[in-house]
Amino acid sequence: MPVPPPMGAVSARQALPAKGSCWYCEKPLDSVRRFCGKDCADSFDEEAEYTR
Ligand SMILES: [Zn+2]
Repeated sequence: MPVPPPMGAVSARQALPAKGSCWYCEKPLDSVRRFCGKDCADSFDEEAEYTR
């Protein structure tokens, strides 16, 4: 198990590997980032809720 984030909620995005682009909008990013911003991360989580 990974260390839980300080916010408390463990979301689907926490388990994602960084792939060099935003998981939500595919915008190119640093190799260590998964999302270009909080909006994309939140949107990704919302979609993950529906597809789980
Ligand atoms: Zn994005």
